[in-house]
Amino acid sequence: MARIAVIPGDGIGPEVMGEAVRILGVLSEHPELDLEWEAWDLGAERFLRSGVTISDEDFHRLAEDYDAILLGALGDPRVPGNEHARDILLGLRFRLDLYVNYRPCTVRHSRHSPLRSPLGAAMDVHIFRENTEGSYAGVGGAIRQGTPDEVAIQEDVNTYKGVERIVRAAFDFARGRGGNRLTMVDKANAMPAAGGLWRRVFQEVAQEFTEIDTEVMYVDAMAMDLVRRPDHHQVVVTSNLFGDILSDLGAVLSGGLGMAASANVHPGRHALFEPVHGSAPDIAGQGAANPMAAILCVALLLEHLGWRWAGARVEAAVQAALEEDVGTPDLGGDASTGQVGLWLADHLRNDRNLWERDTHG
Ligand code: ATP
Repeated sequence: MARIAVIPGDGIGPEVMGEAVRILGVLSEHPELDLEWEAWDLGAERFLRSGVTISDEDFHRLAEDYDAILLGALGDPRVPGNEHARDILLGLRFRLDLYVNYRPCTVRHSRHSPLRSPLGAAMDVHIFRENTEGSYAGVGGAIRQGTPDEVAIQEDVNTYKGVERIVRAAFDFARGRGGNRLTMVDKANAMPAAGGLWRRVFQEVAQEFTEIDTEVMYVDAMAMDLVRRPDHHQVVVTSNLFGDILSDLGAVLSGGLGMAASANVHPGRHALFEPVHGSAPDIAGQGAANPMAAILCVALLLEHLGWRWAGARVEAAVQAALEEDVGTPDLGGDASTGQVGLWLADHLRNDRNLWERDTHG
C-alpha cells in the first residue's frame, strides 16, 4: 500500500489537485496499484484561521506516515509576505532534505513550444537541480541597510557532500533511462572555487559511469544552447540558482507553466511532487487552470513508487489530449480544468494498455 499526502494549497492549487486526485481515483482501481491518499489542510486558509503555517507534528507525520507528498500550489494575496508558503515548502524541502529537484522539460506537441523548428519539437531535457544549498542556502546578511553605504552579502554554499549526491543522482537517472549524455552546468570561469569543486566531483563520479558521455558547459552558453539546439541535451545537472533559471526556461520552451511538473526527492527516503507553476491568483476559481502539470506530477509519483508503466500511461493520456487538441485556454483550447481532467480520466479508463498489462511484464 502506497500512502500519499495531498496538499491542495492555495489559488489554483485545489482546482488542479482535484483533477490529479480524480486520476489517482481511476488508477487505484487497477489491481496492481495499491494507492491511498489523504487531503491535508495546509495553506493560506489554515494560516489565516489559526496563525499556524505548519507544526512540528505536521512535519513529523508527513515524513513518517506517507510514501510521497503531492502539492498543488502555495501563495495567496491575503498573505503578502508568503510566510506560510516559505514555512511549508522550504520547511519540507530542508527538513526532509529533498536534495534533488528534478524537472523534465519535454515537448509533447510542437504546437506548444515557442521554438518554431523541428528541433524545438525534439526537446526532451531532464534537469537535476541541487535543492538544498548554493545561493539559496540563506547564508549572508546586510549592513547599513537603506543608506548609501549598504553592503549585502549572499554566499554561494557548495559542499563536497551536496555536490556529490546530486551529481550521482543525475548519473543514476541517465543510466536508468539508457541515456548516453550528461551535461554539468556551472560558471567556473567567473566562480572558480565553486566551479572547481563541481568539476572535480563530476569527473570523479563519472569514473563509475563510463558508458555515459560527459560534457561541461557554462550556464550562459547553456541558456543559448537550450534555444539553439534543444534536441542536443538529455540530462543536465547543476546548482540551485542555475537550475532554477534553466528549468524555468526549459518549462516555457517545452509547453509553458501549465504543463511543467517537478519532483523534490531524497532518493530512498522522501519525495514531494509539485507543478512548477504557482497559485496563479489571477485565474483562480475560474476553472481556467491547466491541470496537466499536476497530472504529470502523478505520473512522476507513480514512477517514484515503482510503477513506471502506469506513469507512462498517464503521460500517454496527456499526449493523446494534446493530439486531439483538448486543452485549457493557456494551450489555446477552450476546455475547463474539469473538462480536461474528465477527458484524461475517461481516456485512462479506456486505455487497454493500462488495464490489460501483462502483470509480469
Ligand atoms: P505564485 O505567487 O504562487 O508563484 P504567480 O501568479 O506569481 O503565483 P504562477 O502561478 O507561477 O505565478 O503563474 C504565472 C502566470 O502563469 C499566472 O498568472 C497564470 O496566468 C499563468 N499560469 C500559471 N499556472 C497556470 C496553469 N496551470 N494554467 C494556466 N495558466 C497558468
